[in-house]
Amino acid sequence: MANLGKMLRAVGAVIFGVALASSALAQSTSPPSGSAPAQQQSTPPTQQAPATAAAPQQQATATPRKRPPATPRPHTEPTREDLILGSYGPYRSNNKLVSYALDLRVDPDKQVIAGKNTVTFRMLQDGARIQIDLHPQLNIDKILLGTTELKYTRDSGAVFIDFPETLKSGETYAIDFHYSGHPLTAARFGGFTFGKDPQGRPWIYTADEDIGASVWWPNKQQWRDEPEGMTLHIAVPNGLMDVSNGKFMGSKDLGDGYTRWDWQVHYPINNYDVALNIGKYEHFSDQLGDLSLDFYVLPEDLDKAKKQFAQAKGMIQAYNHYFGEYPFEKDGYKLVEVPYSGMEHQSAVSYGNHFKNGYLEHDWTGVGVSLKFDFIIIHESGHEWFGNSITANDRADMWIHEGWTTYLECLYVEYTFGYDDALKYTNGYKSHVDNVEPIIAERGINATPPQDMYFKGALMLNTLRYVINDDKKWWALLHDLYQHFKYKNIDTEDVVKYFNDNTGMFLTPIFDQYLRHTAIPTLELKFNDADGTVEYRWKADVPDFAMPIRVGTKDKWEIIHPTTYSQVMKTPLKKNQFDVATDLYYVNVDKSDGVATGPLAPPNQ
Ligand SMILES: [Zn+2]
Repeated sequence: MANLGKMLRAVGAVIFGVALASSALAQSTSPPSGSAPAQQQSTPPTQQAPATAAAPQQQATATPRKRPPATPRPHTEPTREDLILGSYGPYRSNNKLVSYALDLRVDPDKQVIAGKNTVTFRMLQDGARIQIDLHPQLNIDKILLGTTELKYTRDSGAVFIDFPETLKSGETYAIDFHYSGHPLTAARFGGFTFGKDPQGRPWIYTADEDIGASVWWPNKQQWRDEPEGMTLHIAVPNGLMDVSNGKFMGSKDLGDGYTRWDWQVHYPINNYDVALNIGKYEHFSDQLGDLSLDFYVLPEDLDKAKKQFAQAKGMIQAYNHYFGEYPFEKDGYKLVEVPYSGMEHQSAVSYGNHFKNGYLEHDWTGVGVSLKFDFIIIHESGHEWFGNSITANDRADMWIHEGWTTYLECLYVEYTFGYDDALKYTNGYKSHVDNVEPIIAERGINATPPQDMYFKGALMLNTLRYVINDDKKWWALLHDLYQHFKYKNIDTEDVVKYFNDNTGMFLTPIFDQYLRHTAIPTLELKFNDADGTVEYRWKADVPDFAMPIRVGTKDKWEIIHPTTYSQVMKTPLKKNQFDVATDLYYVNVDKSDGVATGPLAPPNQ
């Protein structure tokens, strides 16, 4: 899987469309951060809607595309490693991270790293053992509390560290975790890669969202707990530069052929967001109000980057408009060139989209909108708000990162190119949805949800906009939700509760149907032309599923309130005239006879 993904990334868009003819391949080539999972190449749009100022009721035309039927991923039992790394066990939950200080030397010739991470943590209860994680491929040189060398036990990627005396609840401690070795180059995003740039110079980078950050540095490898900040001191051979997260604090010639690059992160950060990018980078900068924008690219790409990266400003302005200020102002915003397509490394977003619009040079949603902007700049940077600032507690709820950020793309399009394009773009994502597994995976076992968390997640959020049916409320809800949860780690239940509490609506069944079940709801319609009536109801897995929806004709929608019980409405429209606004709500419609003949709604339904 990993090798294939890497190969596809390496050869870029040419093989991209061809290789993805099977859904199995599509699974294996899911891109960074992912950024959007790879899919079958789109056919060109047959027609583009004229650019008019449209009211929300107007329909967009998305070109339907054929994909082979998707199948659920094979079920595999969680490994011991999954259980240890996926659960928030007693030796993780007995402490809270305060900070990391990573001090590392990277030797490109020997392809080894060596250094230490100082982990500062506060005990939440008395205890004499904590869990820190480090990939078995790397050596532990020693672990110190002050000058005391600590005993430890390694088990499946976890390191259980024992203290000679009980650590007291409420007290803060720091350990120096010294380690070294050749880190693994593996998995979808590469793990830790000692590469070369096209000119043959060292180009070393990390991307580890899937395999986990402990593939190259010791940390508490889970999502629930984040340090309040961290520092990175990265020594690399003279002539190379390391670009990491946070604010650049300076560089120091160490006098032994190495230069140390110092970075400080002023905010909570996910372990997988922490990155090294080591190469022969050129730097240029810009400013957006008080926010510094810094860009690091290979010398040969400087001119292209100066043109393409101009999109960063518009992106930040769009997301600021909807959600409020860029989350990491003290750290600045950075784009850093890498050889893979991209990753949302906090305040230092990795970029490898060939300095071209679209996604790896193709029309990603296939409806003529994707080529208007650089997908990686817009998607990966959107994660600064959803994924980096707001983070899920468990990978199982990763739709909070990916569904939201995919919806942020739609918002960027709406802000930048208008409502019509946004609706087309959003509906273009329907062709990427599989509907073969629920979006939320099992918690506590290090499980990665299916790729529906991206597109179906975004389509669900777009659906909710029309369920709420008041754009002023919708924009306020999005803004306030972000502000409420920024810098926090949350569960799906927190999002749902926030929606319910702040809309006065009971939206839990809608979230449950889209996130916890495989199928989308189907509006069943049974026409009685003689009576001039239509009987309607939802077919859904959630017993109390209820969702208003626009029906009739697109120039004169009528909102009905179907439930899972049948109801009857008068209509002058015949079956073939009676439309459902399926571009505003992600639902199926079934007009075949024999449906919607269930029990009528009880009184007051
Ligand atoms: Zn993403």
